[in-house]
Order: sequence, then structure tokens, then C-alpha cells
Amino acid sequence: MSEQWIYLNGEFVKKEDAVVSVYDHGFLYGDGVFEGIRMYDGNVFRLSEHLQRLYDSAHSIMLEIPYTMEELTEIITETLRKNKLTDAYIRVVVSRGVGNLGLDPFTCKRPQLIVIAEALALFPKHLYESGIEIATVASRRNRSDVLSPKVKSLNYLNNILVKIEANLAGVSEALMLNDQGYVAEGSADNVFIVKGNVIKTPPGYVGALEGITRNAIMELAKKEGYEMREETFTRHDVYVADEVFLTGTAAEVIAVVKVDGRKIGDGKPGATTNKLLKAFRDIVTVDGEKVYPSKRDAQVG
Ligand code: PMP
Repeated sequence: MSEQWIYLNGEFVKKEDAVVSVYDHGFLYGDGVFEGIRMYDGNVFRLSEHLQRLYDSAHSIMLEIPYTMEELTEIITETLRKNKLTDAYIRVVVSRGVGNLGLDPFTCKRPQLIVIAEALALFPKHLYESGIEIATVASRRNRSDVLSPKVKSLNYLNNILVKIEANLAGVSEALMLNDQGYVAEGSADNVFIVKGNVIKTPPGYVGALEGITRNAIMELAKKEGYEMREETFTRHDVYVADEVFLTGTAAEVIAVVKVDGRKIGDGKPGATTNKLLKAFRDIVTVDGEKVYPSKRDAQVG
């Protein structure tokens, strides 16, 4: 296997040398923001949308990213080229930087930027064919007025705790409710329900990250003639839906066939979910930022 190069604060370093200070506030306090992005056949899917979310998250926590969006785009594409990748998972991390042990972020002189790009570990194909089982967990989604789920921060303990609950329950993913009991999202995915011609997903303020895959699916659903609504709903609405699916950069679109022991529809991935997954896979190689100017340049493997 060839060397893996990580972008770290202005230079490319080998994976084994890519280390940050124990005084970094991202490490000490989860103080920072990040993005998970995906490249399909040389195309970084909706890179500008991901970067907008990163800059919005940073602005929200008063973290100034010391690069322009254009510079960051160049750094990400350079990282992909340097690692000779055409299909990849990309992780962009901006931490508050190195400070002292106190909480005060203003002791941190400069944010740290890390870009990791790896060959993709695909979700197993059989999961798309069988669908997955999920369960509601006891832990609620962070309240929007405390730590907004719209901010993709390095503080993922809420998500990690619900992932542990899902693991203990023996299911693939957690269904998180907000503090009022309305459906919010999964540990790292957005949730959709289908009933007849109507598709619903919870609005961001209910307690969901405004996923880039979620945005794409909402657009595709409208194009396919569905009535697409961002609307609050309950667990009952999930149980009686014709279809349920999750969306996310890693999972793409994945059918949920059982929720809290209740079979959804006929217990198999439904026609709408399959149609939207296909429509999604049709756009991922063209909608976004081309890393290689020509097909010949992409002969990297
Ligand atoms: N919700 C949470 C909490 C997430 O971490 C993610 C993954 N980034 C998503 C939803 C899905 O967002 P996206 O489609 O942008 O990957």
C-alpha cells in the first residue's frame, strides 16, 4: 500500500507523523468543528455545501477559520491528488488550537486544520438489500437552544452515547427524540418517513443536523413528484409509515425495516427508498467539485 498523506497546518505529513498537541482545545474540550465529505469517481460531492456548513458551524462557535473557502477547497483537492484517490471519505477538522488548560478559547493562538482522505470503506451491500433495524434510545438529542444540533462541532458525546445505547440494544442505529419527544435524527444520519405520496423529515430546529444528503434527497423527492415536507412527527408516525429511511454521507440512503420491534411496511426496503437511492447515486459523480481535470489524470490507481 502506498503512503497516506495527511494535511496538517500547512504541510503534508505521513499518517504516522500526523499528531497534534495534547493542549489542543479540540482534544481537551471538543472545541472545534468538522465535516465528513465523500468523493465519487473524482467528484467531491457538494463540496461547497459542506464547506458552507463548516464555516457556518465555525462562525456559530466564534472560531475563525484562517483560510478562505477557495484556499480550503484547494487544500482538500490537493490532499486527494497527493493520495491518488478517486473514491474517498474526507474528514476536515478545524480545532480551536493549542491553548492552556483553562476553558478560555482566547488562549488558543491559531486554529489547527487537518484534512484526512482515505479510500472508502463502503457500507456492506447486503444492508441496502435487507434494510436495517433501529430503536429509540433513552438519551434525548441536545436541545437546540443549548448546543444546536445544526452546529457540526467536535463535541459528539450526545451522538456517541446514543450509539452505545443502540449497540446495547443489538440494533444498527439509534432513533433520537428531542426533549419534547419528537423524532430528531439518528446518531449520524437524518431520518425520513414515507406515507403514500408524502415524505417527511424533521426540520433542523427540532434537533437535526441539516445533512447534505438530506438536502439532496429533499430535492430529488420533489423532482420525482413526491410532496416533500419538513415537519415535526412522533414515533407513532414512524411505526405506521409505509417506509422509513436514513440518509448520511457514509450511509447514503438506507432503508429501515424495523423500529422498536415494529415491522415497517412489509419489512423490506420499499420502492420509494430504492428509487431515491438510485436517483442519489445518479448525481453523486457529477454534482460537486471535479478533482481531476480529465479522465486521463484520474488514472491514479
Ligand atoms: N446527523 C448527524 C448528527 C450527523 O453527524 C450526520 C453526518 N454528518 C448527518 C446527520 C448526516 O449529514 P450528511 O448527509 O451531511 O452526512
